[in-house]
Parts: sequence; structure tokens; C-alpha cells
Amino acid sequence: MSKCYICNRELIERNYYEQNIDSFNDKPAINHKEHIIPNALHGRFKAENILCSDCGGILSKSIDSPFCSLFNVITEQLKHVLITKDHGKSNEPPVLKGYLYKDESFKEKIEINYKDKKVSPENPYYELDTSTNKLTIFANKRRAKHFKEVVLNELREKGIKTGELVIEVKTDIEDQRFLGLFFTENIQDFNAKFKKGFCKIAVEFALHKGIKREGLKNVLKINTDQTAEHIDSKNLIPFFPLSSFDKFYETNRLDIETNYPTHEIILFTQHYTNNTKKLFCFISLFSTFQYYVLLNDKYTGPDVVETYCQTVLKQEFPDINIRSIRPKHLSIIVHNFGIDTSKYKGESLSDYIDFIEKEYKNLKAKYELDIFGELKESASVLLTSFTLSKSAKTELLEHISYRNVIKSFADFPENQTIAFLREAQAIHEDSFIYYKRSFFEDDGHGQLENLSYPDELIKEMNRNSQICKAYGHLKFGELSKFIEKNKSK
Ligand SMILES: [Zn+2]
Repeated sequence: MSKCYICNRELIERNYYEQNIDSFNDKPAINHKEHIIPNALHGRFKAENILCSDCGGILSKSIDSPFCSLFNVITEQLKHVLITKDHGKSNEPPVLKGYLYKDESFKEKIEINYKDKKVSPENPYYELDTSTNKLTIFANKRRAKHFKEVVLNELREKGIKTGELVIEVKTDIEDQRFLGLFFTENIQDFNAKFKKGFCKIAVEFALHKGIKREGLKNVLKINTDQTAEHIDSKNLIPFFPLSSFDKFYETNRLDIETNYPTHEIILFTQHYTNNTKKLFCFISLFSTFQYYVLLNDKYTGPDVVETYCQTVLKQEFPDINIRSIRPKHLSIIVHNFGIDTSKYKGESLSDYIDFIEKEYKNLKAKYELDIFGELKESASVLLTSFTLSKSAKTELLEHISYRNVIKSFADFPENQTIAFLREAQAIHEDSFIYYKRSFFEDDGHGQLENLSYPDELIKEMNRNSQICKAYGHLKFGELSKFIEKNKSK
């Protein structure tokens, strides 16, 4: 029998409880389907048998909601291309704060509110062009009418003949200027909310994969009454690329990944020479926000490697009339949509068309991705780009796709070549033991050393914490480019 990891009560199925309600003195802990990555971040992975609905509700309010609201700036701008959420309470779109800049010098700015893709000024204002007698009023809908009267009174007092003015009221002003929305600015306890969210994802993923809660001592505190609470200090390690492979992969993902942006989780044990083990979880949200969570620095359980990866983009199948396709082209449909023809039992062409039509109608969007398949494709692009960067003439590159990827190899440090090739080649040949877990570094004598990714990150952070910030900006910039590209879709 499974227990809730927070209240430690036995989990009862809702159906069983409802059918046997008289045999319960108190309301029991009802088994709850928990989104490992929150639904509000378009996470699709649900786990049962780890949490009860009461504790799920409490955690949702105390950790998930504040965590997810930090991402509103991304999810709101992309909501038309993101996959639909599992259940939507009648969601009133949130109001985001930001600035509109007058021009590209980013000097003059006004405070704005962003709601449901509409931008309105925090404080209404107006512009009067006396040469054309044009008065433009900028205000949100709620205040526009009243503000217009105020402006007209003010102008009349100044002796302006307001009856001759051509008046335009603008409630949506985005097309006027450059928009900048706040991500961290003006948000209270940003770091605490952020950390708690990442730790919760790691804890629940590990529990779902069979790790006992006693094995998660750096993230879960078990009290004497056997209830548990989340620990959110000294267990989060920000990621930035240390492996030669990641230095190119992570900075080119927007260009090389067809499913960008993705959510990714990797739970793994790390071995040390003194026969000890640690348990880590690497989490990457929107291919941008990336952390390791240290779950246990003295882990004694069995070795684990568990992964999860999903796209956050809507998958839609075009409306195709299978009967209008020429029979010789049906193989394209079969191939492109992965229709399993081994199930086909018919004999005639008309049977075959019936079969394809039925299978096509039953196609379901798949959000979960094969993380290793995705990586293998990326490794292949990177290896080809690396080779081309050595041989192709610069003027020819203009016509090649991935030219930006190829160019990114221009300043490739010589002493990292072997490490890069070894890491990329390993992935290309279906070996994923290094990815985000360990990496190669030249030991200074031409030999490669294999180092622990999270442990080396801690050392690097102590040496220079600015690298991490710079990487964060770069990744956020990539995601912003993606948002910009998809705005008008
Ligand atoms: Zn509970």
C-alpha cells in the first residue's frame, strides 16, 4: 500500500472510498494524480501513489502557484503555441508588469501592464500634435473615458479649442514601442519561490521512480511524527555548460532542436572513488532554466538513471482527406505520421485506404519525447557543423542551414577538440553516460580526465559566480528570440 510522502497516511482510491464511505470514521488520504512538472507550466507527466489530494492541494498553493507565476511572462506570451493544460479553471489571464521603450536606445520608457496580449500604460498619458490638431490618448479601457475628459478640460484651460481636435484613444499600445516585461524585477522572494519549485519537481520525480523518501535526506525532512516537509536550502546547483559538448549544444538549441523548447528531467546516481554515492536530479524547464538538485549526498540505495522529456509545443495534425491522396503517395502519410502498418490485415487497395484513414483519425499527439533520440540528432548536427567549420569557406556558409551553428565553432579552443569529439561521438553512438552527469577535461598533459558535472559546477561557482549569470542571460535571450518569432503565429 502506498503512502502520501507528506502526511504518511495510506492512500485510498477515491472510488473505493466513495463506495465504502460508511466504513471510514474519518476522510482518508485520497490518492491524487500529481503533475510532476506543474500543469501551469504545461507539464504532462502525472504520477499516482505518492501524494494525497489534501497535501497536493496545500503544496499546490504554497509551492506550485508562486513558482508558476514566475513563468507567466513566458507562458502568457506563448500561450497560443503551447500545449493545452490538463484542466483549466476559468483562468483569468494574469497582469504582467513591464516597460515600453520609445526607441531602440532604450532610454525613454513608460510603465505598462500586459494582459492577454494587450499592453496598456500603468498611468494614462496623451500626446498632442499641434501641427495636425491630433490628440492621442493612451490609457487602459477602464480609465480611458474619464482620462479623456480630464485631458480635454486641461487643454481648454490652456486655451486650446478642443472641438477642432481629432481624437484617438489607444488602449493597446504595443505596436508603438519596444516591449520589455519583467522576469525577476519587482517580484518578491523570487529566489525562494524558484528554489522550492525545482526541489519539489526533483522530490516527486524521484519518489515516482521508486526512491524511498528516507533516501531523499537533502530535500525532505522527516519529522518525529513521520510527516515530512520540503527542505529548500543548500541543495540547488545552477547549471552552466562545462562539458565541451554542452558549450555548443546548449547555446545552439534554438537553432538545432525541432521540438525546442522542452522540459527535461534526469535522475542519476554519481559514484566517487571512496565508494560513496550521491543522488542528483537535473531539471531543465523551457530548455532555459536549468538546475541540479542534490537529493542525497550520502546515498546508499541502488544505482538509478531515469529520464523524462517533453515538448511544450502544441502538436496538431493537419486536416487531410486521405481519400483524395493518390495511392502511391500514401506511404508519405504512413512515414510522416508514424502509422504502424504491421496492424494492416486487409487485401485490396480500398481496404488499405480504409485502414490508413482510420489510423490517421486515431492519431494522438505525443508530447513525451525520447530524450536520447533528440540528443542523438543534435549530436549529429553538431558533429557535421564542427567538420564544416574546419573545411568550408566562409562565403559558402551563407547558403547552408545551421550556418550560425557552424560559425559558433569559429573560436573553438584547440585543447577541447578531443573532449568535444569524444562526448559528441559517444552520444551519436547511443551512449549517454556522460550527458549532464560527467564530462571530459584535458588534464594539462594531453590526457582526458572524467569529472562529475554537479561537483565541478559547485567549484566553478565558488571561483566565479558571474559565469552562471552570464549563461542565464544568454539562455533567456534565446528563449526571448523564440517568443519573438512566435508572437504573430
Ligand atoms: Zn498527505
